Amino acid sequence: MDLSKEGLGEYTSRSQIARVATESWGLRNLYCPNCTSPRLDSVPPNTPVIDYMCPDCGSPYQLKAQSRGFSARIVDAAYSAMVRQIKEGRAPNLFAMHYDADRWKVLHLILIPHFGFPLSAIEKRKPLGSHARRAGWIGCNILLRAIPADARITVIAGGTPVSPREVRRRYERIRPLKNLKAEARGWTLDVLNAVRGLGREEFALAEVYALEDKLARLHPNNRHVRDKIRQQLQVLRDLGLLQFLGGGDYRLT
Ligand SMILES: [Zn+2]
Repeated sequence: MDLSKEGLGEYTSRSQIARVATESWGLRNLYCPNCTSPRLDSVPPNTPVIDYMCPDCGSPYQLKAQSRGFSARIVDAAYSAMVRQIKEGRAPNLFAMHYDADRWKVLHLILIPHFGFPLSAIEKRKPLGSHARRAGWIGCNILLRAIPADARITVIAGGTPVSPREVRRRYERIRPLKNLKAEARGWTLDVLNAVRGLGREEFALAEVYALEDKLARLHPNNRHVRDKIRQQLQVLRDLGLLQFLGGGDYRLT
């Protein structure tokens, strides 16, 4: 999982070196989780948002690499653009990489499919100060805990790759979320995340109701949160992510 130093001689800035090295690592190592393609191609330079494209199925991918660990958040690009992309169902498939800048190794890599982002996961950052080159520009963070664990697919953990077969299996499992309309999907992801947060495979409706306030804060315009919870549990069942056991009990599959 080593990053290559090849062809970096012409670059001097640390951030530029890291970008070139991690992108070329992706060309050598990334594969498409959406189909069986063993590689991803690069896209023309300066293509917004996208870094790679699958040569077989055309799925676009973005790579975000950082040398800090991403336990809670990943620094992303412009806030308004990301919100718009999610609302319009055009968010990219994101590979988030944590690399070791001293040992020059890829330590962690997770994949978040484009249909795995609820709006609640996008945190607005403070506008850049008046002395910045892009004064007033507002970036965003991706809050990893707001994304259901199902949609945070581990590709490399502690420097060791997970098998492509397992990565594709996990992607396939949640692929039905893609078929939901973008504006409805946020609720589904938030309820799935809340249910996962209970930390157990089996749970009761009352336990999800107990999270009503938390869910209401994510959707301040919705006054019928309990109805929404029941509706979304049905959606999750229809997607095959949840089983109804009867008597208000459920099991995650
Ligand atoms: Zn593909």
